[in-house]
Amino acid sequence: MTSREHRVRERSAQAIVDRLDLPSRPDWGSIIERIETRSGKTIQLVPLDYGEWEAVTALLLESETKVLILYPTAASTLYQQHSIFHEFGHMLAEETECDILDLIPRDLVEAAGMREAIVRSAARGLEVGEHELMAEAVAYALARKLISGSHGRESAFGL
Ligand SMILES: [Zn+2]
Repeated sequence: MTSREHRVRERSAQAIVDRLDLPSRPDWGSIIERIETRSGKTIQLVPLDYGEWEAVTALLLESETKVLILYPTAASTLYQQHSIFHEFGHMLAEETECDILDLIPRDLVEAAGMREAIVRSAARGLEVGEHELMAEAVAYALARKLISGSHGRESAFGL
């Protein structure tokens, strides 16, 4: 990856977050609310013990009406939040190719409470490609926005 590709991706991710039109000092709830409004779907965060499926740190299951985002209970709060933001990245980048439905254990889908047909699925951690990197870039852009709501000097760290 060249630094130019990185910059282009960062700019695209920032534009995606800018289009959310978040309040100047957003909190966690207002970010979720804006993404729900934008997607027209209810977002449910589902804490789950992933057990043997440790290669994946978060999972998105989307139906016509709602989005379930599964995240591991064993991870730290910071890591949980980042993993959830990563799944928001997949939603906001409006990808259709990151479909991993065949790889998802059915009991996991049932445990999450998804009873509707799944129209899209995505994860964090299966393999790194352009979609994964974009989802990560959006996750960081969301984090920068969240941090800007509470602290003023994060620019010193490039945030
Ligand atoms: Zn992903």
